[in-house]
Amino acid sequence: MSPHSPHRYRPDELAALRARYQRERDRRIRPEGTGQYRRAAGEFGYYATDPYTERTEREPVHDRVEALVIGGGFGGLLTGARLRQAGVRDIRMLDEAGDFGGTWYWNRYPGIHCDIESTVYMPLLEEVGYVPQWRYAPGEEIRRHAMAIAKQFDLYADALFHTRATELRWNDDTAEWTVTTDRGDRFRARYVMVSSGTLTQPKLPGIPGIETFRGHTFHTSRWDYGYTGGDQDGGLHKLAGKRVGVVGTGATGIQVIPHVARDAEHLYVFQRTPSSVDVRDNRPIDPAWAATLKPGWQRERMDNFLTIVTGGHADQDLIDDGWTATARLQRQMLTGTLDPTISAEERDHLDELADFRKMDQIRARVDEIVTDPATAELLKPWYRYMCKRPTFSDLYLQTFNRPDVTLVDTADTGGITALTETAVVVGQQRYEVDCVIFATGFEVGISGVVSGTLPVHGRDGLPLLDHWRNGPRSLHGFSSHGFPNLFHLGALQNAASVNFVHVLQEQATHIAAVIAEAARRGARRIEPTAEAEQRWVDTIRETAPDTFTFQADCTPGYYNGEGRPRPVNNSFGPGPVVFHELLRDWRENGGIDEVLHAG
Ligand code: NDP
Repeated sequence: MSPHSPHRYRPDELAALRARYQRERDRRIRPEGTGQYRRAAGEFGYYATDPYTERTEREPVHDRVEALVIGGGFGGLLTGARLRQAGVRDIRMLDEAGDFGGTWYWNRYPGIHCDIESTVYMPLLEEVGYVPQWRYAPGEEIRRHAMAIAKQFDLYADALFHTRATELRWNDDTAEWTVTTDRGDRFRARYVMVSSGTLTQPKLPGIPGIETFRGHTFHTSRWDYGYTGGDQDGGLHKLAGKRVGVVGTGATGIQVIPHVARDAEHLYVFQRTPSSVDVRDNRPIDPAWAATLKPGWQRERMDNFLTIVTGGHADQDLIDDGWTATARLQRQMLTGTLDPTISAEERDHLDELADFRKMDQIRARVDEIVTDPATAELLKPWYRYMCKRPTFSDLYLQTFNRPDVTLVDTADTGGITALTETAVVVGQQRYEVDCVIFATGFEVGISGVVSGTLPVHGRDGLPLLDHWRNGPRSLHGFSSHGFPNLFHLGALQNAASVNFVHVLQEQATHIAAVIAEAARRGARRIEPTAEAEQRWVDTIRETAPDTFTFQADCTPGYYNGEGRPRPVNNSFGPGPVVFHELLRDWRENGGIDEVLHAG
């Protein structure tokens, strides 16, 4: 179906689609909500241990640094880099992993690629002097780039790895934070930046018998190459002769499954909800094209992508891929420019129509690729496009044409029913396997200050979560009254985008600029007034998009709290482009004066 000759839905077709989406959602909803999962901790802690870097013993550290950055993923790295550029010398980076890279440190499964174009996803390319090799970069290239940033900005020198911050406590007399860690460290820091990510802790389905399985098992974010052989490019030769089950068909499962299928004797794919799988079209970046790039090229591409995917207008689409095409289609439908003859009745539902058309294309693609009609039917997603993370692959659907791959649909049983010593059970059916790989995703927001795993005590010992007892309170998402010199990176009361690294880069730039200005003016404390904080809380309340109805109608997943969305959305409604402009204006036109304090 071409977007240029859009299908005109009859009212009965629209009603049928809406009813089908509702039915599929109801079939999938589970009363336990997020309670259906198990943490990869305690007796299941082995699912989360670091298979890549050996943990070495070291003496506890007792000293002082100017800036502590918690998190060595792109948020932390960008903060470290921007602080260096702003002239801050004394920077300590902290991470629970054994090296830099964040999600790209942990996720090294075969087939791993970033589904956002590398020229806009991989940050600081011009600063590091690197042009990616692939349009959609493999994970290892991204991880190495993260390490290159750390080297370039001298962030290894004072880094502490395999170390988790356990408490932050503010001392008003010295205007410093005291930081303690699980390695017995206790040190002081003028500034603390927290960028500990939101999808970090692997989760497992809470299925009966999971602990009794005698075969091999691991989570995709801790891939066991010792067992499978091969590497991120595949070649999992040790799976020869093995029957393997992969549980989960989200963005990770889609990338892993074609590689396991190639090398296992038989692969069972346990699917609960099919993903939308669009064209990938990955290809090497042409060095001749790269040679034409002028300084500022990455900024231009990043801004162009962000504008288009957040619904803005750009004269030219520099990236022109699945993300921007869908966003452009939706925007064109919304303004009616694609089809000026569209009826008044349709006009009321333009957004929904664009969505239906997109998902019809996605479902038609399944029929084009998958030869067995029954299997094709099971692989079709019946929900709105952004209910789940869209995925892209030119290998995944093709995998189901292999005779050694079986798709097991688990929607009616709410997922796999049980594990026995030797088998995965779905309803009454047993599937004997040698290995079970969980591509079952991550707990949302489990790390960091929001979940309480990192207690923060501000002025007069006030716990941050007490200050936030009626909901988060901050100025621009970065800092709170009573918690000086502490900055949060992340989406809370800030901006969001599918290219989250772009948002993180703006956050890092902002934080470093504020700290540099504090140094210039000799301010010891950076802290919003109670009034400024309240104004921002009000702004968020007034502008936050009302996504509740959309989310409540969506098929369950981590986007909507497994079918129970939060009533309040905590992001800045006008979107990241406007927000970044607002921050620049705030820095340049006096807003900053309100947060800089001498004593
Ligand atoms: P997801 O949470 O998206 O997927 C988990 C999968 O496990 C789902 O298919 C889920 O089914 C399934 N599942 C959970 N419990 C059961 C059960 N009891 N029985 C059967 N199936 C079950 O995790 P992912 O790791 O795939 O992705 C997480 C996020 O990581 C993505 O949304 C994306 O943001 C990011 N990511 C990004 C990539 C990129 O290229 N930028 C690549 C990979 C991941 P159901 O849908 O029914 O709940």
